Amino acid sequence: MAETHKYDIVIIGAGPAGSMAALHAAKNGRNVCLLERKNEVGIPVRCGEGVGVKSLTSHRGVIRQEWVKSILKKYCMVSPSGLKVYIGGESESYIIDREKFDAEIVQDAIKAGAIYRNNFAVETLSRCTDGTYDCKSSDRTVNGRCVILAEGVESRLARQCGWNTTLDMADIETCAFARVVSPLIEKEVCFFYTGSRFSPGGYAWVFPRGAGEANVGLGICGKSSESGKAKELLEKFIDKEFPASKTLHLHCGAVPVARWLRPLVKENVMVIGDAARQVNCLSGGGIGYSLYAGKTAGTYAAQAVSGSSVNYSILRRYEKEWKKNFGKQQDRSYSLKKFLLKYGNDQFLDRIAHSLLRENPDKMNYLRVFTRTFAKNPWLLLKTVQVFK
Ligand SMILES: Cc1cc2nc3c(=O)[nH]c(=O)nc-3n(C[C@H](O)[C@H](O)[C@H](O)COP(=O)(O)OP(=O)(O)OC[C@H]3O[C@@H](n4cnc5c(N)ncnc54)[C@H](O)[C@@H]3O)c2cc1C
Repeated sequence: MAETHKYDIVIIGAGPAGSMAALHAAKNGRNVCLLERKNEVGIPVRCGEGVGVKSLTSHRGVIRQEWVKSILKKYCMVSPSGLKVYIGGESESYIIDREKFDAEIVQDAIKAGAIYRNNFAVETLSRCTDGTYDCKSSDRTVNGRCVILAEGVESRLARQCGWNTTLDMADIETCAFARVVSPLIEKEVCFFYTGSRFSPGGYAWVFPRGAGEANVGLGICGKSSESGKAKELLEKFIDKEFPASKTLHLHCGAVPVARWLRPLVKENVMVIGDAARQVNCLSGGGIGYSLYAGKTAGTYAAQAVSGSSVNYSILRRYEKEWKKNFGKQQDRSYSLKKFLLKYGNDQFLDRIAHSLLRENPDKMNYLRVFTRTFAKNPWLLLKTVQVFK
């Protein structure tokens, strides 16, 4: 059996959440190990790759042209019957190259001093008598005084540590995603298609990557899902919207559109990113939240292990900051998702789209979409109060 290496902080999972945590913990001078089960991070890409410029700038801190594929300036909501509502007054988003983006954060963490072990699938996490944790794969063990779980949507190790990570079927989106090449792809506009035909309880999306290429995908509510359904619906959607296009690859995945895990810290273990269900429940976007959670958890973990024992109250500051800065926002997105699952049938979505058609697209942002929707459909207020109360 190989020797067990000991670290101040062990991070499990090298997606954006885990590698950001490793980067910030190592930057703060700690002895850090980042474990990843795959050989290469970010592959295969299971992501639309869309992220707001503001969120990327404030959480990642650097923007590199090598991983920016395109800049999106306009958004278009397509209603079930095909009505198009354009939103041009929202801030810009990037489509990033996740393969390069994820790999680069790992490299930055290594440069900051973190030890990186790939092909290391942690199977068990157990607490030792001295209060540290053994993270074991089939043939290796790494020991940490503090552990950060960033294992993505499966969140299996968090379950081993006593968190209830079981997702209700209504709180999971099953997704299919493809890279499509077609001359019909519009540049700089990101499309969201609603309606039960292609995405019951979710939406389909088209995110242009430039050079006639787009990430095209859809998510359906777990309650309406069955084996192979997301893939089948996506193929139909692509045939309809992009006839005679070329599909480069198609993958399936899942997004946890649930309430964030409470608590986020137990003993000396923190949970971050998709594993902690830190995802916008309306858009399904989790890159921005994962970067933020990784940075915050890594920074506080580094402070918490600076003495001879791990300071639990410092670890808890990660949860307090998350709650203050994004937790409440995520709670609202969860309530809104529940509202749409309850009332958002095709007729409802068409009615809302119809009432927004004459708005000036350049003055429309998401907040204005909500305020105008309520102003033009006062009957909605009563239903909203019932869901949010
Ligand atoms: C189809 C689809 C489209 C999406 N599109 C978007 C989008 O356009 N914009 C957006 O913001 N978000 C999007 N998301 C969500 C986004 O991809 C996630 O929120 C984000 O990747 C979460 O980062 P993470 O680091 O928490 O988890 P992940 O990126 O899932 O990383 C977890 C890592 O942990 C590793 N791991 C797991 N278990 C172990 C173990 N036991 N031992 C060692 N390593 C382990 C995995 O191999 C993986 O590398 C999409 C998701 C899907 C499925």
